[in-house]
Amino acid sequence: VESHVRAHVAPLRQTAAEGVGWQAMLVLSDETSIKRADRMRADFLANASHELRTPLASLAGFIETLRGHAKDDPDAQERFLSIMFDQTERMQRLINDLLSLSRVEMDEHVPPSGEADLVSLVEDVTAFLRPQLEEKSIDLRVDMPDAALAIGDRDQLMEVVMNLIENAIKYSPEGSALSLQVLPAQLRDEVERPAMKLGVNASRLTLAAPSSESGERYVSLRVMDSGKGIERRNLPRLSERFFRVDGQKSGPKEGTGLGLAIVKHIVNRHRGGFTVESAPGEGSVFSVFLPARVDVSKSAEETTG
Ligand code: ADP
Repeated sequence: VESHVRAHVAPLRQTAAEGVGWQAMLVLSDETSIKRADRMRADFLANASHELRTPLASLAGFIETLRGHAKDDPDAQERFLSIMFDQTERMQRLINDLLSLSRVEMDEHVPPSGEADLVSLVEDVTAFLRPQLEEKSIDLRVDMPDAALAIGDRDQLMEVVMNLIENAIKYSPEGSALSLQVLPAQLRDEVERPAMKLGVNASRLTLAAPSSESGERYVSLRVMDSGKGIERRNLPRLSERFFRVDGQKSGPKEGTGLGLAIVKHIVNRHRGGFTVESAPGEGSVFSVFLPARVDVSKSAEETTG
């Protein structure tokens, strides 16, 4: 384990009463976490600048071409403008995600006090994503109780649900099945380690977990896709900023690699948990669980399809 320790040494002269001579005082201070935070800040800035520089460089190149040899070629102009539009959108996505991440980090230590119903969030998000679902002919199945109230910030939880379902669509082939399940209040053990859904090649990892408070009950959302899945070695890196699985393209609109980092920070702020289970070639199950608003939570039995 790498660690950074600073040593301060100072000579101390003994008083006459203690006998003649010198002693030394040695103070060791562990600066590992300060160093690590500094490096993370530097890495983050370098990564963020790099991500923005790529689309900017391409924009500059196309502008140059439009002024130069594509000046009198309307077909080429049309093509280049459309690529430029995609690059601009990509920068917008990056900046929106960066702002969202910094907002979440800023108030991560303040637990939310409002309430949000996971069922209505899933309904809103699936309605919003309907065009993307239809475009890829994804067969969506939804299994939810009447309500599943969480203690939380509705806008932030909307972002969590949106990121997970959007990923499931982005990383699944056309015509595949996507299943969403919302579960009413349960104890932590039941939500954190449900029976594995995928086959023998599946691995599971907890990406965020609440500090243990026994007796707390949680509502949860499971997003199960039948996409290409994620190899075991990549699971720990999923919620790292800017991490994208090598060679995995999310269609024409490449991702920012910030979505799952945002999910993790929001879940941490809510004192909830975030797990992933995946099997290459079979699919992935992303789950989040959040402290339930107990007094009004509904019974487990009612489900709608
Ligand atoms: P991105 O904007 O790239 O989607 P995320 O942080 O949301 O960023 O996801 C990080 C990476 O994790 C993605 O680039 C992708 O490689 C992988 N990933 C996320 N969700 C899924 C999924 N449902 N199936 C397969 N891979 C996924």
